Amino acid sequence: MTLTLHVDGPRWREHLVEVAERTPGLVPVAKGNGYGFGLGRLARRTQWLADRGVGTGQTWGDVLAVGTYDEVAEVADRFHGSILVLTPWRPFGAALEVDPAFAGRVIHTVSRAEDLAALLERQPDARYVLELVTSMLRHGMTGRDLRGLGGLTARGRLEGIALHLPLAQGSHLSQVQRLITDAVSADLPTRTLWVSHLTDSEHERLRASYSDYTIRPRIGTGLWLGDRGALKVTAQVLDVHPVERGDVFGYRSRTAPKSGHVLIVSGGTAHGIGLAAPSGDLSLKSRAATLARGGLDAVGFVRSPYFIGGKQCLFAEPPHMQASMLFLPHGSPVPAVGDEIDVRVRFTTTSFDRVEIS
Ligand SMILES: *Cc1c(COP(=O)(O)O)cnc(C)c1O
Repeated sequence: MTLTLHVDGPRWREHLVEVAERTPGLVPVAKGNGYGFGLGRLARRTQWLADRGVGTGQTWGDVLAVGTYDEVAEVADRFHGSILVLTPWRPFGAALEVDPAFAGRVIHTVSRAEDLAALLERQPDARYVLELVTSMLRHGMTGRDLRGLGGLTARGRLEGIALHLPLAQGSHLSQVQRLITDAVSADLPTRTLWVSHLTDSEHERLRASYSDYTIRPRIGTGLWLGDRGALKVTAQVLDVHPVERGDVFGYRSRTAPKSGHVLIVSGGTAHGIGLAAPSGDLSLKSRAATLARGGLDAVGFVRSPYFIGGKQCLFAEPPHMQASMLFLPHGSPVPAVGDEIDVRVRFTTTSFDRVEIS
């Protein structure tokens, strides 16, 4: 029935404010499934953060970043500031269909010289950031591309330079310094730098070295999901069937390898519940050893993201669309129909039926 994300509201909100306070210029990111919360909820929460920032002498939450142009309309009514679109503008597709009602609030990401000319031709007052290519090699211009832009950047509203850095592996600062040098040598009329995936101390060093620049850190995971202790996911037990060794169950009519219980719980492929790797090591030797011990993974049961009494459960068969079947061997504690059990999932790939914020 229900796969629920429970949020300890006071603790979560305290964490959001704490991140904002130690991250001047914070740009919350809300994209995809809204990190499990949904885009609309994150948009409202960003507006709440922005309102709390008023009068602190700092800026945060005045800009919300979304992933795609299709996401703009989902946040635009709930959040009243500027909306940065992270997917670079292209002269086709959804980028050309922005509702004129929000066009003035949208900040485009431009990652190719030819796109800047095309964007300004369509929207002469367009607001945009120029993305520089980083070691991620995803999108972006080189220093030479920037220098080749000539007078174009005097048109429209250049809102800054954007860098999308890979997840930290050591320090990013030398790369950032090199990229800023490129931007400076292109003599661009902006002193704003939009960055991602830097640590607090890297932000601080950046602010110290480039004190004439405004740093805008884009953060999603560390903001919305940064305090895991405030978040809990549960599923409901919908049915419990005792089985004896040899009893048939499931879509594939397999037989129980030993006595125990088959459980039907909420959450399936439609929620993003997937098969995890089989438990333990897959070498022949270890499989033989688990087989000798009567281990269920040896007979093909696969670990599930469901936990009962702190113990990880095994799928009885691959998850169904909205429910999953678990096999509990004899001797495990057996929950009752209606009980809530813990689920450990990736928030960015799970669609919850409900988000309950206390
Ligand atoms: C998703 C994204 C972010 C935020 O990433 P998190 O790891 O969720 O903080 C920042 N910048 C860009 C360009 C992104 O696409």
